[in-house]
Amino acid sequence: MTDDFDSQTRFQQKYDPEFWKKKSLDEMTPAEWELLCDGCGKCCLNKIEIKGKIHFTNARCRFLDPQTCLCRIYENRFDAVDDCRSITLEAVREKPRWLPKTCAYWLLDNGYDLPDWHPLITGRADSVHEASVSLKNRDLISESEVKNYENHLVDWQDL
Ligand code: SF4
Ligand code: SF4
Repeated sequence: MTDDFDSQTRFQQKYDPEFWKKKSLDEMTPAEWELLCDGCGKCCLNKIEIKGKIHFTNARCRFLDPQTCLCRIYENRFDAVDDCRSITLEAVREKPRWLPKTCAYWLLDNGYDLPDWHPLITGRADSVHEASVSLKNRDLISESEVKNYENHLVDWQDL
């Protein structure tokens, strides 16, 4: 999740239409960068690396709200969670890839356009949930209940 992702209103503010088609990621303003996050929550799943490849699990960060797919401690997340990652350009380009392949940052950096369900296209934050691309209504477990992450690997198509 990225800074200031909190409500529908962020997609109703004024911004240059289709700014993501006119600029590369490293040219975006901080506000534009934040708008790109679709709020799917999938970067807050625990992952394990096996033989040089990142595998996602269905174990969510204990601070991720599974209904809204938002972080419950957003302002203090880096203090509270040692391995909470900031979504930077370096993180987007990191190999092996650890962001889901639907992540707007990864899509744009790899030459794809935003998908038609993206809130910047629809103007509505809920469209990511309606398209079943977020973690909402998925079979998740809190990381605090996990004994062995290898028992929680998932191969969802949108990871
Ligand atoms: S995976 Fe990407 S688009 Fe989805 S919440 Fe994380 S940063 Fe935002
Ligand atoms: S603290 Fe957890 S839920 Fe919050 S942004 Fe970091 S990984 Fe996601």
